[in-house]
Amino acid sequence: MQRLALHTFSRCYALSAFPITYSGFLLPNPFGMPSAPCLFTPKARPRPSLKRGSLPRSITVTRTSAALITFSHLRWNFVYQRPQHLLSRIAKQRPVYFIEEPEFDASAPAHWVRSTPEPNVTVLRPRTPVPNAPGFHEAQIPTLEKLLRDFLEVDEIGEHVAWFYTPMALPLLNQLNPLAVIYDCMDELSAFLHAPRELIEREARLFQLADVVFTGGPSLYRAKKDKHPNVHCFPSSVDTEHFSRGVADGPEAADQAHLPHPRFGYYGVIDERIDLGLLDALAVAHPEWQIVMVGPVVKIDPATLPRHPNLHYFGQKTYAELPSYLKGWDVCLLPFARNDSTKFISPTKTLEYMAGCKLMVSTAITDVVEPYGHFVYIGEDTVSFIECCEQAIAISEDDRRRRMNEGERVLAQTSWDRTASSIQQLIEQAVTRNRRAGAVRRTATVRTAADDLKSAPVAVIGAGPTGLSAAYHLGERALLIEKNSTVGGWCRSVEDRGFTFDFAGHIMFSADPYVHQLYNMLLGDNVHWQDREAWIYSKNVYTRYPFQGSLYGLPADVVTECIVGAIEARFGAVKPARPNSGNGHGTNGANGHGTNGHGAGHAAASVTNGHTVTANGTNGHAVAANGTNGVNAHAAAKVCEGDVKDCCGDGILESSAKLVKREAAPIQSAEEPKNFEEFIYKVWGRGIAKHFAIPYNRKLWAVPLSEMETSWLGGRVPMPDLEEMIEGALKPSPKPMGPNARFGYPLRGGFQALMNGFLPHLKGSTLLNASVRAVSPSKHLVTLTDGSQYRYSSLISTMPLPQLIRAMGNEAPAEIVDAVAMLRHVSVRCVNIGVGRENLTEKHWIYYPEDTVFHRIFVQGNASPHCNPPGGFGLTCEITYSEHKPLPCDGDALIERCIEDCHKVGFFKPEDPIWATNQVDMPYAYVVYDHNRKESVELIREWLAQHDIILAGRYSEWEYYNSDHAFIAGKKAADAVRAAEQKQEADRLLPKPLTMAAGATKSN
Ligand SMILES: Cc1cc2nc3c(=O)[nH]c(=O)nc-3n(C[C@H](O)[C@H](O)[C@H](O)COP(=O)(O)OP(=O)(O)OC[C@H]3O[C@@H](n4cnc5c(N)ncnc54)[C@H](O)[C@@H]3O)c2cc1C
Repeated sequence: MQRLALHTFSRCYALSAFPITYSGFLLPNPFGMPSAPCLFTPKARPRPSLKRGSLPRSITVTRTSAALITFSHLRWNFVYQRPQHLLSRIAKQRPVYFIEEPEFDASAPAHWVRSTPEPNVTVLRPRTPVPNAPGFHEAQIPTLEKLLRDFLEVDEIGEHVAWFYTPMALPLLNQLNPLAVIYDCMDELSAFLHAPRELIEREARLFQLADVVFTGGPSLYRAKKDKHPNVHCFPSSVDTEHFSRGVADGPEAADQAHLPHPRFGYYGVIDERIDLGLLDALAVAHPEWQIVMVGPVVKIDPATLPRHPNLHYFGQKTYAELPSYLKGWDVCLLPFARNDSTKFISPTKTLEYMAGCKLMVSTAITDVVEPYGHFVYIGEDTVSFIECCEQAIAISEDDRRRRMNEGERVLAQTSWDRTASSIQQLIEQAVTRNRRAGAVRRTATVRTAADDLKSAPVAVIGAGPTGLSAAYHLGERALLIEKNSTVGGWCRSVEDRGFTFDFAGHIMFSADPYVHQLYNMLLGDNVHWQDREAWIYSKNVYTRYPFQGSLYGLPADVVTECIVGAIEARFGAVKPARPNSGNGHGTNGANGHGTNGHGAGHAAASVTNGHTVTANGTNGHAVAANGTNGVNAHAAAKVCEGDVKDCCGDGILESSAKLVKREAAPIQSAEEPKNFEEFIYKVWGRGIAKHFAIPYNRKLWAVPLSEMETSWLGGRVPMPDLEEMIEGALKPSPKPMGPNARFGYPLRGGFQALMNGFLPHLKGSTLLNASVRAVSPSKHLVTLTDGSQYRYSSLISTMPLPQLIRAMGNEAPAEIVDAVAMLRHVSVRCVNIGVGRENLTEKHWIYYPEDTVFHRIFVQGNASPHCNPPGGFGLTCEITYSEHKPLPCDGDALIERCIEDCHKVGFFKPEDPIWATNQVDMPYAYVVYDHNRKESVELIREWLAQHDIILAGRYSEWEYYNSDHAFIAGKKAADAVRAAEQKQEADRLLPKPLTMAAGATKSN
């Protein structure tokens, strides 16, 4: 890990999203004490526009004074931030009503508590007797609807505009008749701790209903801009004067005045977004420093806060008091954790600290790094964060001056006044546009889980591609339940320091026109198609995939073995077998794979490779072909039919499997291969088996190949075309072209974008962060880990089959429990690495059959250029593991091992800096087609069908599905539900047979 720390520390961020101009100011002393005055004065300069979607020129905007009714998850008297800054300014033009989340009050009927914290701003806090329903919980909605109607009537609210900070309040829109709907998206709320499950669905609906959307920082803008045609980026601004004057002229806070210097300070909310481990380490590393934390502790247990004599918590202070704390700090901190909840954070305090002329140290938060990385110290990890703090207090005068000047330039370009005024304009534009269009009252039509229960929906467990497709095809009746905070299952993506990584390499491929229609609907033009560059690395050479067609460049003896082996597989032994020969490729126990039992009596081996196939004679599976090789060749040619031209058990199946039901392998021969290992020898011959197919597949499958059957390969694995093979051995094979060589990938947003594409099209309900704990087939009831229950008419399960049966507890009969215990799977660990060098390679993915820890590298950086930050390049090392093949090491050691192996195979240069590393674990990754699979799955499927439970998806049907198959599997499941319901309805309507007639039959 040493190399990691070194490289990451030396990374220099110098990206600025803002054009910068210069103006001078007086510098503070090294510890920021007020001996030298520092005063920034806001200047009127145009703000650079990051906006998208502009108004047609022909619209004339007329100013309205329509009231603004806002719904917020933050209370007005909580930390003073974006909502207060914007709304207090907008209140100069129109009355603002700020509706907060309800507070529990059992002592009285529901009522409003009103206050007027600022001129023309009315804060309305509902107090309701509804227990255990935090926030705009669905149980609160009926009560709130009534309160809202009363408010509109009593306050005689006429024309109004609706403004949402939280989509959770969206059902209340039904009570309004707004001139325009605004969504000010200031955070990715769905990623917050305890985020309500319905949030994502309501946000998708809000995107449909809103006239204009504002986002906080640039990363949130990037995440939301494709969801609505009129999204505008308004990063947090600053009231420069408040902080600069307060620091220069105001008093210092009394409770910190006694603390010695140097002091490091933070103000803001202290919740799951703060890296407590980092604070702890900082306090321990420098007991002589004082760390001051000002702000309320929310959502996290205060007992978890690190405690040290030099770490001081002063609690929440008012906005007016903040400069008095800032004044006494030498360095300001932005100690944010790097997790989902901070991915889109755009800290308001960055510019406020700057306005107070303070040096800053931040963790690598995108919206700090990108716009302010040139004057904020950025610590990538704990060690470098502390080092940055050390550098900050030892800063030279020149460097301080430079940073302050840079900061001042940024400050000069922004102010809350200007932001509020631009926002007002956009509101007016939306109102004008709606008036012209003859605005119609819009309703939110957001269904609640209570409604769903009433109508007994079709529950869909899992929002991977199968579940999303099922929910989409089911329409309003679907209740989609997903345990993660985002949809997509294994087709999700993660972001890390500007890199986008998928959960293992994912690409789009399908031969099915309907899937292409879906691609179109889900991605629109956010897609690009490329000819694949799939390669294999062996014998220190990179050769094109498929192996058998691209032998050129491999050592001559390897090429000979492969060609001779293929000829023998097709036509029988080239040389006669010697007597007393060894057992061909009989035993491969060295690899823990036992005896494959079909090689007895074959020629002695001259090279040992675990299956000893450099035999002079036959190799066991071609022996019968001596007499019947014409038949075999013919059968093989049949297998070759179609347009699939690859041979390895992974690549083609990930990239270009056809959408056909897999039948048993159509190889007709006197000697059917009994298992996958035999199949490899029989189809590809000993050379290819030895040099690629066996070692690669052993590495990939992590289970003995002799324990696998071959139905999953049926019809898709061709015999090598000898002519092509020889040609491919004599000259470099050209880049593959044509439909099978093409694959698609979302241009922006990683593979996740394909999954998110479903969200606006889902008409039913979606629950996120909702993990199914129990399923009762007899009661048709699903129970979540939080105890909530949902009745269903039918259930579509896409969760792993063993977990589903386990969730049924005693209701699953013993034979079903036994059957599910037979199912085997392989796990994948992905080690994602972001390197500080562009265009590492032109390849898309590479197979490694030899001794690297990974079996495949997916070159994420080439899936789309937008997966990389400027100057960087990402890739994913995939490592399978199972009980037969445990991971050789874990954690940082595994990352280090992957980096070493990337160097070993020539992928990395010694000087390449590593910018990002992380790991993603996929416990269920490959289902194993062993000899019990088919029977076990059928038994379970039939039993579940009797209880209206349909299995759909890769880990539910235990099928080797890609995401395109998953889309189809979801659709089929939705169709099956509808067909079953229609049948039930038809049965219900059928006239019942007359008892008389029945009796008459009997008596006959
Ligand atoms: C290494 C690898 C590479 C791949 N490469 C490709 C590729 O290049 N192209 C391609 O098209 N496909 C690829 N695939 C296949 C693709 O990932 C799968 O086909 C697809 O994810 C299967 O979708 P699914 O919805 O059936 O299952 P999943 O994606 O697993 O979705 C199941 C969902 O159920 C949820 N869930 C599980 N338990 C519960 C519970 N108790 N309560 C609530 N929710 C629950 C999970 O969180 C998950 O979201 C690859 C797969 C792997 C492993």
